Amino acid sequence: MAKQGILIVLSGPSGAGKGTICQELLRSYPELNYSISATTRPARVGEQNGVNYWFISRPEFQKMIENDQLLEWAEVYGNFYGTPCHHIAELLNSGKDVVLEIDTQGAAQIKKKFPQGVCIYIAPPSLDELAKRIHKRGTESLENIKTRLSSASGELTYVHNYDYVVVNDEVQSATNKIIAIIIAEKCQVVRNIATINNILSNAKKNF
Ligand code: 5GP
Repeated sequence: MAKQGILIVLSGPSGAGKGTICQELLRSYPELNYSISATTRPARVGEQNGVNYWFISRPEFQKMIENDQLLEWAEVYGNFYGTPCHHIAELLNSGKDVVLEIDTQGAAQIKKKFPQGVCIYIAPPSLDELAKRIHKRGTESLENIKTRLSSASGELTYVHNYDYVVVNDEVQSATNKIIAIIIAEKCQVVRNIATINNILSNAKKNF
């Protein structure tokens, strides 16, 4: 049986830089598989269906919930977002690693359903920096920016439910830390029982 892949969850407040880090992670670690979320949010300029998200209607999203097709889902700033389950189990069972980039509500659901998942909290260096980044991104209305900032300070307290925290003060160094976490997780004894047993049974045969 192939070794199980690792489910890596990148989460944290909006504007912490999860998306940028995730892109950099996929560039530097191409064997990772990105899980494309479904959302009812309208596509932003430059976003593509099936690349950034699966852009679907509210009734379609509701149907996915009813049919148990989402590993987790949440309402974030008035829109629905969720992780489609088909494909993920298949990838993990064939030894492939999968990365999710989701909000803190979704990460809590994954930790409950899938405790062996590795949850990494991406924190901004400060709330001032977070505000600067959301303004600079220029994709949100002033109203939306206010909502995102006011929920961010509360969301920072969720960090205690995660396995790791990475402060995003610089994208490359934050990405390198995440790669180091993945490599360390792959070396955990519990994830290598079959390999260890194999070494031990060969040792018994030879001596
Ligand atoms: P945005 O609208 O800026 O693309 O995303 C808003 C928030 O939704 C971000 O915090 C993002 O991480 C989160 N998000 C994206 N996809 C998912 C998902 O599948 N599930 C959950 N729970 N949150 C998601």
